[in-house]
Amino acid sequence: MTNETWGEVREELIKRVGRNNYVTWIEPLKLSQLANGVARFEVPTTFFGDWVQRNYADHIRTQLVSTGADVERLEFLVKGGGVNGRARPAAVPAKPARAVAHADDDLPGAPLDSRFTFESFVVGKPNELAHAAARRVAEGGPVTFNPLFLYGGVGLGKTHLMHAIAHELQSRRPDLRVLYLSAEQFMYRFVQALRERQIMDFKELFRSVDVLMVDDVQFIAGKDSTQEEFFHTFNALVDQNKQIVISADRAPGEIKDLEERIKSRLQCGLVVDLHPTDYELRLGILQQKVEYYRNQYRGLVLADGVLEFLAHRITSNVRILEGALTRLFAFASLVGREITLDLAQDCLADILRSSDRKLSIEEIQRKVAEHYNIRLSDMIGPKRLRNIARPRQVAMYLAKQLTLRSLPEIGRRFGGRDHTTIMHGVRKIEELMAIDSQLADDLQLLRRLLQG
Ligand code: ADP
Ligand code: MG
Repeated sequence: MTNETWGEVREELIKRVGRNNYVTWIEPLKLSQLANGVARFEVPTTFFGDWVQRNYADHIRTQLVSTGADVERLEFLVKGGGVNGRARPAAVPAKPARAVAHADDDLPGAPLDSRFTFESFVVGKPNELAHAAARRVAEGGPVTFNPLFLYGGVGLGKTHLMHAIAHELQSRRPDLRVLYLSAEQFMYRFVQALRERQIMDFKELFRSVDVLMVDDVQFIAGKDSTQEEFFHTFNALVDQNKQIVISADRAPGEIKDLEERIKSRLQCGLVVDLHPTDYELRLGILQQKVEYYRNQYRGLVLADGVLEFLAHRITSNVRILEGALTRLFAFASLVGREITLDLAQDCLADILRSSDRKLSIEEIQRKVAEHYNIRLSDMIGPKRLRNIARPRQVAMYLAKQLTLRSLPEIGRRFGGRDHTTIMHGVRKIEELMAIDSQLADDLQLLRRLLQG
């Protein structure tokens, strides 16, 4: 058994357990050994291993056996065997699950995740344009912009939106042939067609669709013949006025090793980006997810403030945020406890740690100076005017609150002030905050800005 076979098994597992469970529980597994009927996997935490053992071991074993492997039992070991089972952060992989072709359809597309619909997509400032553009395409009316190019970082909802378009088109315009696949699959089909001398069929098929959606197009950068074929397909479809939707992790112009002519073609349509999530959007997504979990795990109590805490602390991407919530509910139901802040901190320690952003005092000073419209140099300078001293104290307060620096350290970064000065500043702000609502608002805003 090689890791390649494990790769195949994993693809099969996506179908069995669903994409979300797959991404949360299966993808992080690493097959470390297969011998004497035992398949051994590395897992990020003990809890993680227990959970997979209880819920997915049978699926995994069945799939392994179906590839001819001799597996009677699965074992899950924490890498490095850390005492508390947290030796390694449970990095939820950034790479999207590879999709598998439909067996029952003549279009060689990827299966659509039934949960990726417009209804389940939470709209906020960072994604409203992308959402509106996707909705427009999903109406299936005359093509107004071609292609629609969606780009943004990992886990911000590109694939979700593309699936949503496909679902919507399927119900509104069942007459249209809609093909969704990843750029990787496009390449794979192309190479296969070359190998099997069926390139004419390949061309014909891709030119016969009404809507073509290619996810993660950055993947074909540097792959010359695939790019070439993609370019021709693209042009043929645009000439026939067929809608194309493309996603990538960055703007067309920024994809390295992508041919210029392709870049400029991609820029011809509507290029929209999904911005990093903000606090409100993250909270909205969590609230929506929780509704779903409440049905699945009846009787579980969720304490106040937990969702806010997660939305505040896990800022990296939505996939990790969702994974955290999934794990939290699973864990709480396993141990039969209320979901409290303490439980969250315990069960998600690895995720929280890895998404801890190291905020520097300089960053704080800069943001505060900007906000109050004073010079950065005045932050550390000696001026005692109130309109400078107050912002300075705000920055001191935030430095104390948001970093792990000691008072003397903070003092040094404020132009070598004494630690008692810092302490005085921090106290002053604490006092004022209680009576000055403008200041309290300022602090809330700054805190949000600084913590992304
Ligand atoms: P990308 O393709 O940009 O890497 P995905 O579309 O795979 O990201 O999204 C990652 C996960 O986050 C998915 O489970 C998706 O449903 C969820 N997600 C992302 N954005 C939103 C949103 N605005 N509302 C609801 N779920 C979202
Ligand atoms: Mg994606």
